[in-house]
Parts: sequence; structure tokens; C-alpha cells
Amino acid sequence: MKTLLVAFLFTVSSLSAFEYALKPVRVTSNVHCFFGAPEVMNKTNNGNIVNSCYVDAGEGYIVIDTGPSYAYAESAYNAMKKIKPLPVKLVINTHIHDDHWLGNGFFTQNGVSVVGSDDFLHNVNVHEATRMQSTISPEAYKGTEMSLPSEMISQSTRKKVGNLDVELKIIPRMAHTTKDLVVYFPKLGVLFAGDLVFNDRLPSVKGGNINGWITTLEELEAMGALHVIGGHGRNSDKNSSKMTHEYLSQMRSEIRSAIDSGMGIDETIKKVQMREYRSLKLYDAMQGGNVEASYRVLEWEQ
Ligand SMILES: [Zn+2]
Repeated sequence: MKTLLVAFLFTVSSLSAFEYALKPVRVTSNVHCFFGAPEVMNKTNNGNIVNSCYVDAGEGYIVIDTGPSYAYAESAYNAMKKIKPLPVKLVINTHIHDDHWLGNGFFTQNGVSVVGSDDFLHNVNVHEATRMQSTISPEAYKGTEMSLPSEMISQSTRKKVGNLDVELKIIPRMAHTTKDLVVYFPKLGVLFAGDLVFNDRLPSVKGGNINGWITTLEELEAMGALHVIGGHGRNSDKNSSKMTHEYLSQMRSEIRSAIDSGMGIDETIKKVQMREYRSLKLYDAMQGGNVEASYRVLEWEQ
């Protein structure tokens, strides 16, 4: 049996010699994650700012998000092979932001199916350079191609891989993006929430909808998962959505008060500083933009 498994392991030799030196962290006996740094992508972290997780389904792995580049995905898989030499049976992309799926090519090249929402079809331009491409080092990006999911779904669905049922839930409203996808393993009680859940750094609201996001977090919390793993940050306990939920709720109520008192957008950005979040990474880079994006949604409520 063992030789059979090993025969199926990916044998594609390194297209890219870049080594990310990734270390998998055990979340449960079936789940390991590579947790990225709470930073913006740059030439030092080479896009290792995001979470990519492996679920052991017995006969193979299910991978949730593939990271920022081909070399990243290859480094991660090589590290997982040392834990258990299984092939990858399915890859799932939580949303269209390029730090989460540019590693797809490593898996599609090996014939693995990749599932994502049909947002990829509508909102990814494969002819444009990616943010990653223009930000990280050419060595780390080498071999990376925009490999879109082979299956783009418009509605929630369920699959069986090995000994695990996996629910792919399409969020039916704009939240972090136009069409986010979360992944739930009922037998394990593990929920992969993508960028609906941030920890260790300020969430990024631009391109999303604060109202839809808060509603979605209420729904995800009602699922009662034992572990909730976000797209950024290391917290993986059942309450890991708390920080994002509280941050968004507080920001919404402060912006609503500002709008009620007749404040314009510039004044509101100055006022809604939420200083208790100042010690979080990326606060300086993102707080103003988050308030601006949310103001533009909330001003229509009046
Ligand atoms: Zn994102």
C-alpha cells in the first residue's frame, strides 16, 4: 500500500528553486496549517503573509488556499510530505485575492481539481499582472501562472474526499469580497473561513461590504464549529472570529454616528480612529481605507 501511495505523489521536479522554508503547524490530528506573517507582501516575506491548510482525508489531502506563488505551494507540499506522504486530492480557493491562490499551478500541473466560486470568472483578469508579481522577488515568483479553479461554482455544494465530507458554502452576499467561499468539515468540526476572519493584524475591508460581512460572521458563528481558521492570523479556536466581528461592529456604529451627525467622509476618516486597535499590525496602512470603504456603503442607509 505504501509503495502505491508513494507512486502517486507528485514527482514534478523543481521548476523553481526558491525555497520558502515553511513550517506546518498542527491544528488538529487531521489539520495542519502554514500561517503567514501579519504583514503586507514584500520582497522579504515573498508573499508568505497568508494561511494555507492541509486536511488529511485518509487517502489524500484537501488543500485550502494555495498561497502566493508556485514555489510557495511546492515548499508547503514538500513539508507536508514529511509529515505524511499523501497525494493531494482536492484544492479549494476561498476567494479571488491573489495571495490565496497563485500557488494553484503547482497542483493543476499535477492533475488536481481546484474548486472556487465563479467570482474568479467575473472578477479576475488573467491578462493583468498580479499584485504579487509586481511586489515579491522574481526568484520567488518564478514559475507562477494565473491558474484559475478548474471548477467554478455559483452555489454551495458538498463533496466527499476519502473519509471526509466537505461542505463548500458560497456566501450569498458581498462580504470580504463579492463572492466568498467557506469550507466546513462536519465530522471534524473545522471551518475554514478565508478572509472573513482575520487575526494578528487589521482586517482589510476595501472591496467588501461591512454589512454583508457582519451578517456573514453571525451566520458562521451560529454554525458552532470547534475550530475556525481564517485567511490571516494564527488563532484557530472556536472564537477566532471575535476580533474581526468586534472590529467591524464597532467601526459600523462609529461611522453611523458620524453620518447621523452630518459628517462628511474626510472628517469621518479623521474621527473614526479606533485607537484600541492601534497596536495591531497594518493599522497605520489600513484603518483610513477601511473607514472610507465602509462609509461609502453606510451612507446609502440614510
Ligand atoms: Zn482577501
